[in-house]
Amino acid sequence: DEEDEDSCPRKLQLTEERHSQKVASHYNTLQECGLEERNKSRILHMRNFNNWLKSILIGEILEQVRQERRDVCVLDLGCGKGGDLLKWRKGHISRLVCADIAAVSVEQCQQRYNDMKRKCHPNERIFSAEFITADCTKELLSDKLKDAEMKFDVCSCQFVYHYSFESHEQADTMLRNACERLRPGGFFIGTTPDAYELVKRLELSDSNSFGNEVYSVTFQKKGEYPLFGCQYDFNLEGVVNVPEFLVYFPLFEEMAKKYNMRLVYKKTFYEFFQEKIKNEQNKLLMQRMSALEQYPADDRSKLASENPEEYEHAKGKSECADVRLPLGTLSKSEWEATSIYLVFVFEKMS
Ligand code: SAM
Repeated sequence: DEEDEDSCPRKLQLTEERHSQKVASHYNTLQECGLEERNKSRILHMRNFNNWLKSILIGEILEQVRQERRDVCVLDLGCGKGGDLLKWRKGHISRLVCADIAAVSVEQCQQRYNDMKRKCHPNERIFSAEFITADCTKELLSDKLKDAEMKFDVCSCQFVYHYSFESHEQADTMLRNACERLRPGGFFIGTTPDAYELVKRLELSDSNSFGNEVYSVTFQKKGEYPLFGCQYDFNLEGVVNVPEFLVYFPLFEEMAKKYNMRLVYKKTFYEFFQEKIKNEQNKLLMQRMSALEQYPADDRSKLASENPEEYEHAKGKSECADVRLPLGTLSKSEWEATSIYLVFVFEKMS
């Protein structure tokens, strides 16, 4: 049947290509806006919360890796515009490889890195970096790396892995890219929507979609959830509006075994938050991150790289601010959106 995509590989391939192009062009056209613009966003607290969570996750993993190694190499898979560059800087890594399907994002990421390097204190040794534009669900990064023998200590895949669950082959290629060049004892860490949460909310809804004023999720079908290619549209205040795919976690865990990966933990954002906020340092970081919002004229990352002292000063001042925990700060709608996600950590066994 000409219309049956499953029985027509060429057509399926064309559909997949269209989808990849859609993802790339969507992220390519997202405008880089200043902090002032971002402050107006209804999802500002949610962005801050997600950033806090990634900072804790990345910080903890780097600390663990550093117990064994001095020079730490990281792969940022689906790096976007480089939202985590400051976290890598703070974690004193030695080398970073950034890869993303969206060429414009990769360029912006490289630009940010160059600015950071140019403006840093002469005594600070900033990590070296390499930038790759590739569809990581279809192309092998090993073929594109400057040093084909390169090994990583950490692969970080933040809010990206779900794009690969379109087909088994794509999910496997993405996993291969994430894990094949990890050293034994290295980590694959990330954040991705929780399929249980998505399906639970869908089943509770009386239509094919659910959400609120900040996010909406629309499935094509209700009641049938194929392991691959189970597409839904995720819409988040103009931030993401491209098709995504359900990641059934037990399958992901099973597939990762092919690359000798052992699941260290999987936690919902809420579980992660509850556990990590007990730590005083993490609580302080949360205060600082939300209090820095009070400096709308200053672009935080710009401030941090141009004038680290002033940045520290701003952070210091913010310690006097009220403790603003996400459940109090995030609106109910923002919390509903962010609580869809989970955090995962895998370790390479051999
Ligand atoms: N990791 C960044 C962060 O946390 O800020 C960006 C996250 S953004 C929600 C998702 C990113 O995944 C986008 O930059 C997008 O271009 C990238 N992406 C989607 N599909 C991809 C693919 N097949 N290969 C590589 N990158 C992909």
